Amino acid sequence: MARTPSLGAHVSSAGGIDKAVDRAVDLGAESFQIFGAAPQMWKRKHHPDEDTESYRQKFTQARLKSSFIHAVYLINLASPDDELLRKSTDTLTAELDLAARIGADGVIFHVGSHMGSGFDHALPRIAAGMREALDRTPDDALLLLENNAGAGRSVGSTFSELSAIMNAVDNPRVRICLDTCHAHAAGYNVATIAGLKATVDEFQRELGADKLAAIHANDSKTPLGSGRDRHENIGQGTIGVKAFRRMVRNRLFRKAAWLLEVPGYEGNGPGKADVEVLKSLRDDADVPDVPAPSG
Ligand SMILES: [Zn+2]
Ligand SMILES: [Zn+2]
Repeated sequence: MARTPSLGAHVSSAGGIDKAVDRAVDLGAESFQIFGAAPQMWKRKHHPDEDTESYRQKFTQARLKSSFIHAVYLINLASPDDELLRKSTDTLTAELDLAARIGADGVIFHVGSHMGSGFDHALPRIAAGMREALDRTPDDALLLLENNAGAGRSVGSTFSELSAIMNAVDNPRVRICLDTCHAHAAGYNVATIAGLKATVDEFQRELGADKLAAIHANDSKTPLGSGRDRHENIGQGTIGVKAFRRMVRNRLFRKAAWLLEVPGYEGNGPGKADVEVLKSLRDDADVPDVPAPSG
């Protein structure tokens, strides 16, 4: 029987979207995440049917647990600008369409920034954009709101804001992707036993245990509550390896697919060793040695 949670990482889809599955297998990943298009550009990448079909075949053959698309970073459903909201909604729709084509479990996206207009003004606009993207796409793929680090005017750094969005959208396809680095930067102290318990309790109260579908498993370079989003390798940051051991065994966090978005112990993004550390935290009683930070 497969262990829970499934553990994996973000992988490149360069050279054809199906190549991402090969890379996930090479890492020993059980779940993985990709970009469906260049994350800093509005331009969509064309994926031929041949590649999307190959993705499905490889995914099934490798007996992987789940895959997700991380939407482009430019999407901003919280924007007071109508043109940006339209572009964001269309792009989110395209990401969900691609997820349905390759059989991915869902699309993870950042809600965006209200740019000074305030959360209350942004909320109905976010909900309308999400509802439209969901209505225009097949039922197969989930739409995951990612919590953010809490900088400036960004939306969705607290569970209560994410809950307000979920309630406003009111669609069964909406889930949460919890980034551990962002949560810690936003003031959720997942590094300590008491802090993790408080975080889990608040998540269950505000959102519900069944709503957590993915974890972005990232340590943090910045202190608790910094509001700054700087990912660090597991065990080399302010959250620490013992905290990740508690999280990977936590009954709430175990329900989700774990995806690393770290610089990597070798500095080339998440690698085999990074996935191995998560697996040893899940599977063994002892906390493993983590490579020392390179400085
Ligand atoms: Zn993200
Ligand atoms: Zn981040």
